[in-house]
Formats: sequence, C-alpha cells, structure tokens
Amino acid sequence: MMNEGKKRALVTGGSGGIGAAICRQLGSAGHFVYVHAHRSKAGADAVVSDIIAAGGEAEAVGFDVTDETSSRAVLESLLEKAPVQILVNNAGIHDDAAFPGMSSRQWHRVIDVAVDGFYNVTQTLMLPMIRTRWGRIITISSLTALSGNRGQVNYAAAKGALNAATKALSLEVASRGITVNAVAPGIIATAMSSPIFDSAMIAELVPMKRAGSPAEVASLVGYLASKEAGYITGQIISINGGMF
Ligand code: NDP
Repeated sequence: MMNEGKKRALVTGGSGGIGAAICRQLGSAGHFVYVHAHRSKAGADAVVSDIIAAGGEAEAVGFDVTDETSSRAVLESLLEKAPVQILVNNAGIHDDAAFPGMSSRQWHRVIDVAVDGFYNVTQTLMLPMIRTRWGRIITISSLTALSGNRGQVNYAAAKGALNAATKALSLEVASRGITVNAVAPGIIATAMSSPIFDSAMIAELVPMKRAGSPAEVASLVGYLASKEAGYITGQIISINGGMF
C-alpha cells in the first residue's frame, strides 16, 4: 500500500550521534532519508544500511555545509528527483575557549558551520518545498544559546543566530504549510559531549542526573516532522532534563 505521508527528508550531520538517531527515527516513520555527512562517509553509509535493514529507504550524501558551491551542487542534483520536504539542520561543531583567548579561526569556524550551513542548505531547498505547500524545517540549536555557557561564546552566538533565523523564517512560510522550529538540547550523550562532561559533572548540572540520549532528541524531532505537529511553528523547544 502506498504510504501517503511519505516524504523526502534530509538530515545534515546524519553521520554524527544525534543526526544518526534522527535519520533512524525518520526512516522508521516511513520517509526516504538522505543521510548527510562531511568527513565520515562510512558513518553515513552505516546509518543508511541500518535504515534499509529495518525496511526503510535511505541514501548517503556528502558535502561541507560551509561550502556554498558544493552544497548547492549536491542539493540541486537531489532536487532534480523530487523536493525535499523535511529538513533537519543538525550539522554543528563546537571549538571552546575562554573568550580572551579565542582565535578568529575558532570564532568563524563554529559560526560558519551553523549559520552559513543553515543558509546554504535551507535556502537551496526552500522554493521547491514552498511549491509543494507542505514542509518541516527543524534546526538543532543548544541550551547554550538560551542560558550561555563559559568557553562557548562562539557556539552561543552561532546557535542564538539559528534561533532568531528560525523565528523569522517561520513567519515567511507559515501560510505555505511549512513549519520552522528549533530544538535546544542540553547534555546529550554523543562523541561531541562525552569529552566535556563526566558523570560527576552531569550529576551536578542536570536535575535528572543523567545525560539525554540521541534517541530522546530524535523522538522530539520525529514529532515536529509529523503531520500532527502542523500547528507548531517558530518555537525553540528545549530538551534538557530540567537544566533550564
Ligand atoms: P557529532 O560531533 O556526533 O556530529 C556532528 C555532525 O556534524 C557530524 O555528522 C559531522 O559530519 C557534521 N559536520 C560537522 N562539520 C560539518 C561541515 N563543515 N559540513 C557538514 N557537516 C558537518 O555531534 P552531535 O551529534 O553531538 O551534535 C549534533 C548537533 O546537536 C550539533 O548541531 C550540536 O551542536 C547539537 N547539540 C549537541 C549536544 C550534545 O550534548 N551532544 C547538545 C546541544 C546541541 P562528519 O563527521 O561526517 O564530518
């Protein structure tokens, strides 16, 4: 039987901890998932294999989200087949330093992946999505953008910009059946967070005394991507075990 709710979804950074869980979630909901990677092509291929083994459909794609030319070239080749109607802007990095010692490279790299990445990917997919009159854009932000965090002025600026862009874009496309939201996780157990937070720090910082799992973030993203979430837009939704 044809799945009427089936869409094409793209998850940037699908090779990473949270991104992989989001890809699996969207695959299990019956969507065709483009699993994006930059350096870890093998990581994206592994996620694609998992989705296919579970009976879903997926394909790996690769590009550097900070490179406008290659991002557009790859995305335009996908758009030749069909519009992408679910976009999860998840690719992100952090490069922490106390602000007086933060290099210009640390400042720009973190902001470029988040903010230029948002532009290069979202803008390219926008018009074809608008023409279908149905879409979901979900961007992975961070608690740091809402509460601040020492050593992360660059990361807070990057994620704060994504929160503001989410609100502005939601207004532009609300009448076209497209929702635009951000998810702001606290501490989630992945390769990005494990070098920073040990279990004693987590017990001190998190009221629930544990890190969240990528699957918990993926469930929230899966809901925001669903038909049922069609009246939620322009929101920054926290998932942080009670940290804020
Ligand atoms: P990971 O480091 O596991 O994954 C990061 C992903 O981003 C990888 O797939 C990586 O691709 C991709 N990426 C990095 N740079 C680029 C680039 N220039 N072009 C394209 N892709 C790129 O991180 P997490 O899964 O932990 O984080 C995912 C998102 O969640 C990030 O936006 C992060 O800021 C956010 N977040 C994470 C939290 C946590 O506690 N883990 C808390 C709050 C927010 P590749 O490896 O293939 O190069």
